[in-house]
Amino acid sequence: MFLFYAALFSLLLALILFWQSGRLRRAAGLPGGRVIYTDTRSWSEVEKPLYDPALSLIGKPDYLIEQNGRIIPVEVKSGPAPRAPYDSHIYQLAAYCLLVEKTMGKRPPYGVLHYTNRDFAIDYTPALESALLDLLAEIRRDERRADVPRSHSSPARCARCGFREICEQKA
Ligand code: SF4
Repeated sequence: MFLFYAALFSLLLALILFWQSGRLRRAAGLPGGRVIYTDTRSWSEVEKPLYDPALSLIGKPDYLIEQNGRIIPVEVKSGPAPRAPYDSHIYQLAAYCLLVEKTMGKRPPYGVLHYTNRDFAIDYTPALESALLDLLAEIRRDERRADVPRSHSSPARCARCGFREICEQKA
């Protein structure tokens, strides 16, 4: 049952992050990704979700890489890489970096976004952490609101959104 709620929470978090991340991008100056090569043989599956009670944050990276005493989270995406990683993917990975630090006591220097044709390393900088914490605080505020409006007017963004079938605000 815990795993069910964890999965449900992760889905909701992904939706809310996607919805809100565009709003904060310009202010936050998110890092762009570095294209890297990674050897998937060193990846370990994560069995249980990581949970930080102080932030009420739970999430499960697809894999962790242990490398020279460092722990690097990996998020696997099912499609080909965009020209640059989407904000929502960067924030999701940043949340995993934060959870690794909180639960394992080691701060990842970066996380990996794995697309079908390319991998990006996203540096987990203090600026990215700060932008993530701002976003989480905004999500908490919006959780108490009955109606949260769309944060953009971008038909192109809605066209490639996985939630467009159920979204009542699609452009
Ligand atoms: S369909 Fe458009 S408005 Fe709705 S969640 Fe997706 S991107 Fe946002």
